This record gives sequence, C-alpha cells and structure tokens, in this order.
Amino acid sequence: MQEIKRGSFVERDKNGPERVFKNIVILTGAGISAESGVATFRDNDGLWENHKIEDVATPEAFARDPVLVQSFYNARRAHLHTVKPNAAHKALARLQKELPGDVTIVTQNVDDLHERGGADAVMHMHGELVKVRCRACATVHDWIIDCTAESKCPTCERLGTLRPHIVWFGELPFHMEEIAEKLQACDLFISVGTSGNVYPAAGFVSNVQETGKAHTIEVNLEPSEGASLFAERRQGKAGELLPNLVQELLNMG
Ligand code: NAD
Repeated sequence: MQEIKRGSFVERDKNGPERVFKNIVILTGAGISAESGVATFRDNDGLWENHKIEDVATPEAFARDPVLVQSFYNARRAHLHTVKPNAAHKALARLQKELPGDVTIVTQNVDDLHERGGADAVMHMHGELVKVRCRACATVHDWIIDCTAESKCPTCERLGTLRPHIVWFGELPFHMEEIAEKLQACDLFISVGTSGNVYPAAGFVSNVQETGKAHTIEVNLEPSEGASLFAERRQGKAGELLPNLVQELLNMG
C-alpha cells in the first residue's frame, strides 16, 4: 500500500514512483451544472429556484400540496430542454472513455447533463428529473413531459399515481450499496461542485479517508464545509478546472 501525502499528485509523482489511478470515483453536485445555467442551492441562500426545501422536496410537501410539488418539478424538467452540458460534464465523460481503469460518476444532481455530455452509467443518488415512479405499482418510467394528477401510469394504467423519481429529504438515497463498494475500492476520489451540506454524500470523503489508500481532491468555486478533509483542493469553476485535471490524469496512464 502506498502512503498518501498532502499536496498535488502530479508534484508527488515527480519525486516518487509513478502512481497511476485505476479506480476513480467522482462525486458531483449542483456546482458542476451551474455553468450550464442550472441554479444551485447555496448560490440562492438555501432556496431552490425561490422555494424552501420543505415546500417542494419532502414527502410531507407532496402529501400537502401535490400540485405545487408536481409543477415545481415540471418546471425543472422543462428547463432541462433549454440547457446544455458544459466542459466539466464533457471532461468527465472523456475520462470515463479514455482512462484504462474504472471511472464511476456518482451525482447528487437530478439533471441529465452528465448523460448528455457523453457519460455512461451515472449513479443518480438523488434521482432523476427525466423519470417518474408509480406509487401504486412502483414502476419507474422515462418522462420528459409534465406530470400531473391526470397522468396515467403506462404500466398499471391508474390515474394520478405518478410522482417525480426524486429522493426527497427524509427518503433513502439510491445506489448506496454499490456506491459504498466503489468508495471502498477507489484509489482516487474527486468531489466537484458540492457544498458538503447534504448527507450521506457529504460523508463520502471521510469514508474514503478511512480506507487509507486513496488520494482525495476537491474541485469547487469556494471551499466546501468539508474542504479540510481533502488532501488536495483546486478552487475555481469546474468547467475551467476539470478539462485540465482530466488531461493530467490521462497523461499519467
Ligand atoms: P449546493 O447548491 O449546496 O452547492 C453548490 C456548490 O457548488 C457550492 O459549494 C458552490 O461554491 C459550488 N459551485 C458553484 N458554481 C460552481 C462552478 N461553476 N464550479 C464549481 N463549483 C461551483 O449543491 P449540492 O451540494 O449538490 O446540494 C444541493 C442538492 O440540491 C443536491 O442534493 C441536489 O439533488 C439538489 N439540486 C440539484 C440540482 C441539479 O440537478 N443541477 C440543482 C440544484 C439543487
């Protein structure tokens, strides 16, 4: 096992044995989509498109006012048609394709910009705007139009049973077992554009540190809540920093 020292892995490699990363996990948050024109939470004082989280992103909110919640996600879904993946999404897709190893993208984002930027097999731990789920038969459907009380489940054909396929606060994130395995096995963990306020994602860097075998990098516009837990920090816009970081990683291989 190789000792991980603080500082840039590129500098470290100049003075020591070449270290080639074979199992990379990248966690992304709202910041990676900011340059595409998708609003983050933190840049809006903890509001999501002028709404309080408890009004639009909890099971209680949906039970209380399903019309408001559906129209909030309908608006987010419709907005996706007006935005495009940026250089950061494309750089990560390039890393997945060109690195001779395993590159896992885990995102807290509910947009589809990683996929449209060319990435494969993205783990959406907080769900996806372009899907809905039937509360009666539990089937998940691709969905790019509005979802309302008049929408019919294509599988069980009941009316008004579809909900956004989104993990609301208080619900269990998706893919957690698989993510835990990937974190356990990784030799490089990169966190991009996340404020480190939402768990369990905010705890991933500590999970990785505990294995003692991975280098960790934070790429963010400003230091996140957990910034001091990362061995290396790169501050700035993801769309400007990630293409260079990906090139550095590919040059090492
Ligand atoms: P957040 O809004 O809490 O934090 C965003 C972080 O990104 C901040 O630390 C900010 O400094 C950084 N940032 C802003 N612009 C950046 C840029 N150009 N390059 C790099 N970093 C930049 O986001 P979060 O931590 O992902 O938590 C928000 C939650 O809200 C998530 O769970 C997510 O499901 C949901 N959400 C999703 C979207 C989306 O799908 N695009 C958008 C808003 C909220």
